[in-house]
Amino acid sequence: MSQVSKKDFEMTYDIILTGGLVVTASDTFKADVAIKDGCIAALGEKFNTDAVKTIDCSGKYILPGGIDVHTHMEMPFGGTTSKDTFETGSIAAAHGGTTSIVDFCIQGKGQSLRESLDGWHAKADGKSCIDYAFHVAVTDMTDEVLCEMPEIIKQGYPSFKLFMVYDGLRVSDGTFLKALKVARDNGGLVCVHAENNDIVVNNIGELLAEGKTAPKYHAASRPPLAEGEATGRACKLARITDGPLYVVHLTCSDSLEEVVRARKAGASVMAETCPQYLYLSTENYEEPNFNGAKYVMSPPLRPAENQAPLWNALKNGDLQTVATDHCPFDFKGQKEMGKDDFTKIPNGAPGVEPRMSLLYKGVVEGRYSLNKMVEVASTNPAKIMGMYPQKGTIAPGADADICIFDPEKSGPINHAELHENVDYTTYEGIDVPGRPVSTISGGRLVVENQKWIGEKGKGHFIKRGTPIIL
Ligand SMILES: [Zn+2]
Repeated sequence: MSQVSKKDFEMTYDIILTGGLVVTASDTFKADVAIKDGCIAALGEKFNTDAVKTIDCSGKYILPGGIDVHTHMEMPFGGTTSKDTFETGSIAAAHGGTTSIVDFCIQGKGQSLRESLDGWHAKADGKSCIDYAFHVAVTDMTDEVLCEMPEIIKQGYPSFKLFMVYDGLRVSDGTFLKALKVARDNGGLVCVHAENNDIVVNNIGELLAEGKTAPKYHAASRPPLAEGEATGRACKLARITDGPLYVVHLTCSDSLEEVVRARKAGASVMAETCPQYLYLSTENYEEPNFNGAKYVMSPPLRPAENQAPLWNALKNGDLQTVATDHCPFDFKGQKEMGKDDFTKIPNGAPGVEPRMSLLYKGVVEGRYSLNKMVEVASTNPAKIMGMYPQKGTIAPGADADICIFDPEKSGPINHAELHENVDYTTYEGIDVPGRPVSTISGGRLVVENQKWIGEKGKGHFIKRGTPIIL
């Protein structure tokens, strides 16, 4: 990196990061980073640091801020609500080096997509402490909704989630085809929760009839093949329509093989996995005293032999992103609702905060490179969800969303260090080799040396553009 120009030297910046190693999806280089008016203004060395907030990043990585494209803040589920608000959840995310979230706005029955989005804006606007955007989870897919989709895409919400599972939410294959066509023709993207509903419903009925009510039967009721079958069907619908598809929370080899096959055939199919499927397994459901309920999520955790194929798929590009599906419910009072019946346990677990640390563990363990980690944690999510190059990289003109990561700050994850508004973490005791220490969101230093110093509610809504198909 060459010495900065006279013009850059004479500029007055808001913040200058000095001495760190900048890591993007494609490059690793030593540079100082100058920030002004919410954006990255210049990269170079020897900026004039007089009278400017300077952060010494020696020995640290300067990463694009994490982008978590799968969160559920304040989400109603089964008679209760996920515990993190946009304020508490976004503060937790920022502590974990994440600077943008894309949350799922859930369409209410009979509501238009716009009405549903207005409801989600009311929860997040002026509350979220980092930048945020919304997918629309369509739960009432009518002809009116299909007609409304192009307008919603234009308004900056290009991604829609459809469910193949859950009676009352799921869509038929015919409706799925129609939605893929609308997305294809209007620069949108269909996200899918893929599990075979009939298999799940049938299994639940049999298990409960046999008196099998413990948390571990949640996993038994939703086997990998139920996900694999639905993922394969969704992929084929994408191929038939040439529609753009993004499979959320892919957990296992059965689904991965379907995605790989579709991609080989030239389909516009992409997929995300989550840290829980990389680090946890069905063994967690065996934890005593109802503790298995902490891991009740859909799709469920899988046998550990699924983990290595998922890591490989991240390395070789078959899987493009890692998001969290952060959906926290307290063990006390909320998870306990299903003490006598696993189907009454609210589905979901926390995870928005430790994602970057857990992904860095993959680097140190030789699963993939540091550049690849940046790619799956930030760059690819920004591209696929229509936020690139405003977000997802470190380059002049991009938003100043930055995670300053200390590769020496090792030690086990513990609930006490986290800021998620929930009474446990599924990652308790998992040793991570490094941690985010400071976070800049939109040019504002919000976390400094692991302490929140930001002003609350200053995150901006991200009006997203056209998804890039990877
Ligand atoms: Zn989810």
